[in-house]
Amino acid sequence: MCQFCLKHGEGEKWYLQAKNYSEDLLSDLRRLKFLEMFADPQAREREFRKANDGFGRLKKMPWLIRTLFSRIITNKMKKMHFGQVVPLEDIERIFEFTNSIVRVSCVCRESTLGKEKRYCYGVSLGPNGGKLKEIFQALEEKFTGGVDDARFEMLTKEEALAALRAHELEGLCHTVWTFQTPFIGGICNCDRTDCFAMRSTVTHDVPVMFRAEYIAAIDPEACNGCRQCMRLCQFGALSYSASDKKVIVDQTFCYGCGICRSACNAKAIRLLDRADSPVAANVW
Ligand code: SF4
Ligand code: SF4
Repeated sequence: MCQFCLKHGEGEKWYLQAKNYSEDLLSDLRRLKFLEMFADPQAREREFRKANDGFGRLKKMPWLIRTLFSRIITNKMKKMHFGQVVPLEDIERIFEFTNSIVRVSCVCRESTLGKEKRYCYGVSLGPNGGKLKEIFQALEEKFTGGVDDARFEMLTKEEALAALRAHELEGLCHTVWTFQTPFIGGICNCDRTDCFAMRSTVTHDVPVMFRAEYIAAIDPEACNGCRQCMRLCQFGALSYSASDKKVIVDQTFCYGCGICRSACNAKAIRLLDRADSPVAANVW
């Protein structure tokens, strides 16, 4: 169990608790202020630039100072905007108790690629996008002078799941995100090139998301050594044994996203509980 499961999930998976999606949490003024930053293109750009400059400065620091700064940033982000990798089957469980899904443009990609890419999904207990959609539309009006309803694409659960499966084939890893923890407002589909959070966590060693509650395991009997799974793993957790002609998982590197499974026609990969892994139970 990650720290959030203990703190916000009473020992169960915190992102499967409906209370963490409650619309009541959206009355909190601090949270509304924070959401405003996401909707204001200039404020967002400023934050991303600050983060990029920060990564550059961190890189030049001696190891001890860098570690200290990294912890300070992680602890701050845990209160504000923190994520966790979640495999598709748990997202299906989230969709069982949420009532609407809105696909929107990914703010990271708007900044890194300079164009709209719809890889983010707002989830809500309310119908028709709930309060969260209302808030974002009001903010869009405030910052751009009008609301473009086409930017808020309502999806059925089936449509959203089909889109998420397609993202897996692109090698994108599903993550849930808080907006002033513990409120969860969205699901993103991340990669290391375009997403600030993945870059921060994996490339710069400043974690802003937990790994999944799972780790991957490969059945050596079923694995035929085709190496297709290796194409999709963004975390360097898979390697090929030339002598055995099989792929193996280094569970200490595995984020438990389960994306590798979508490339495995032999169905040789399973997700196991991270808690049961002697080497990865406490690696988050
Ligand atoms: S995709 Fe499946 S069969 Fe192919 S190497 Fe990976 S685990 Fe083995
Ligand atoms: S090996 Fe682990 S980290 Fe890599 S794709 Fe599979 S589940 Fe994700």
